[in-house]
Amino acid sequence: MVLMIGATLLGTQAWLKGEEVALSPTILQDPVKTVSDFPSPVQGKPLRVAGEYYSNKMETMLFHPGTDYAQAEGAVIRVKHEGRVIYAGPDPFLGIKVEVDCGGDWSVIYGGLKNLRVKEGEWVEVDQVIGQIGYYPDIFGDIEQTHLHFEVWQGDLVQVPER
Ligand SMILES: [Zn+2]
Repeated sequence: MVLMIGATLLGTQAWLKGEEVALSPTILQDPVKTVSDFPSPVQGKPLRVAGEYYSNKMETMLFHPGTDYAQAEGAVIRVKHEGRVIYAGPDPFLGIKVEVDCGGDWSVIYGGLKNLRVKEGEWVEVDQVIGQIGYYPDIFGDIEQTHLHFEVWQGDLVQVPER
């Protein structure tokens, strides 16, 4: 009889504990992110996607880690995700670029910009303007058209953005 009561009490405690665990920490955790959480701010058929290219200017194969979307010079670029700006300035490959740390090992890079509106260390929100499309001499191939260069990374791996 004593053993039966003990067993019942134990069972009740376990059930209560289980309920507590189910209710608390899930609210605090970020949902797992996928590449679809980092859409391109502009749409359309890409001029070029990620991959290797022979650069006439550099006379060598180069890995192009992003997607290029034709855009008129001066087009305003608004990010579609939030995060911390970890670089905003010139880049030897990408002209003027902005890199955003989006947390959880994800980062997004925007190249081919001008008139930056963000600085390093700044937090950006969805739809915030980071700059405008500028002209830069493209070294990956011979694209003369002004365009947004857009990269999504998870850790060391280039991700292919959804379109
Ligand atoms: Zn590019």
